Amino acid sequence: MQSVVDHFRELSRIPRCSGHEEKVREFLQDWGGKHGFASRTDAAGNLLVCVPASPGQERAPVIVLQGHLDMVCEKNRDSGHDFTSDPLKLRVEGEWLRAAETTLGADNGAGLALAMTLAEDQTLVHPPLELLCTVDEESGLTGASSLEPGFFTGRVLINLDSEDEGVFTIGCAGGRESTMVLPLEYASFPESGLLFELKVSGLQGGHSGVNINERRANANVLLARLLAALHGLTPIRLAAISGGSAHNAIAREASARFAANPADGPRLSGLASRLQERFSQEYPNEPKLAVSLQAVPETMDRVFAGELTDRLLDLLQAAPDGVTAMSREVPGLVETSVNFATIREKGKELHLLFSQRSDKAYGIDGLSGRIAALARLAGAGVLTGNGYPGWQPDLDSDLLARSKRIYRQLFAAEPAIEIIHAGLECGIIGAKYQGMDMISIGPTIKNPHSPDEKLHLPSLEKIYRLTAALLGSYCRD
Ligand SMILES: [Zn+2]
Repeated sequence: MQSVVDHFRELSRIPRCSGHEEKVREFLQDWGGKHGFASRTDAAGNLLVCVPASPGQERAPVIVLQGHLDMVCEKNRDSGHDFTSDPLKLRVEGEWLRAAETTLGADNGAGLALAMTLAEDQTLVHPPLELLCTVDEESGLTGASSLEPGFFTGRVLINLDSEDEGVFTIGCAGGRESTMVLPLEYASFPESGLLFELKVSGLQGGHSGVNINERRANANVLLARLLAALHGLTPIRLAAISGGSAHNAIAREASARFAANPADGPRLSGLASRLQERFSQEYPNEPKLAVSLQAVPETMDRVFAGELTDRLLDLLQAAPDGVTAMSREVPGLVETSVNFATIREKGKELHLLFSQRSDKAYGIDGLSGRIAALARLAGAGVLTGNGYPGWQPDLDSDLLARSKRIYRQLFAAEPAIEIIHAGLECGIIGAKYQGMDMISIGPTIKNPHSPDEKLHLPSLEKIYRLTAALLGSYCRD
């Protein structure tokens, strides 16, 4: 039997960015074939490897071990790494495994390596196993969303995609996106006007679910407040605006260009720097927050027409962002939140993207309604996505009770039980397959999705032992 780390090293040689999972899928099918495990795929590219039970355990309940095939491919700015062909360069630093220059892909290669090792371990007694390996988790949970009824048969599922050893995740939020679409009209650039550029930068950003309760500054929100204040001092005419990078990230940067009277330049700059100071007091957690306002030598031939600047500035200021409700059941858990994610000009439209999360359907519906109503007030349309469902925790879960008992026996410690304010594949799977008993666990991974990602090796060993014992607990003597 190979160790979990050996399997992880093999996986690290195979390109597997989201949307390009074919090579790793083939690799796992070949690996299964060598061990005599049947496998099948579906139209989306999800893979199921069926591992027969240990002798005598054929009638034990089927256990699904689940993880995702894809990884986030991020590298350092100066790295020449080619994710479509180059193996990751792994290195051990003390108790940690990391990759030179790139993401490590322990999210979720560690889960796949754990499942492979459990499947081939002849010293274990285990029930029939189904290794459910989904595609494209990282860019929008689309693999899990495409699962067809009957693709797998087990009703007990251990998701191996968590990132904190000692924490059992038993529930998660659902999500939905709404896009306000504001038609743009233009007028010619005012003859006596000068073009200015306003920028907000240096913010820490972060995950729009996990970090939303930390009151990090959102660059789109600060930009809106700055523009409104400047417009209050002297009329400005917006010419361009953009902000944020992704639906699931808190906006780190935003900028706008506008026309104003050249003589007002010093007053506008003075106000911008006073507001920067005020923001710094409001957000002591954003030490690198920077606001800059400068006249731009280039020219633009147009600005937003008529009253559009006023209407857009009102809309931007009223745009919802942040936590809107805390859980009544779980102290400290965010129940509902919205991230004012991006501002983009697309053709003759301005698109404002909002990402809503809640573990309650009414939380998401309420926010979507607010966003749609606000859009109407501003003369904008709204596009609402279907979203994905949350995972309602089951505190009476048999799997949870076993996991706690075994964790205490193995490690003489109490596991933490958590519900997270972010999307997990378990939510989607539970909505598609009735009667699932699920838990999400995993080794400790720091800084996932960034080149600083690292995997704590002793925690990998602990998760292996925990999962092995859990499988054993479903077997008969
Ligand atoms: Zn993951």
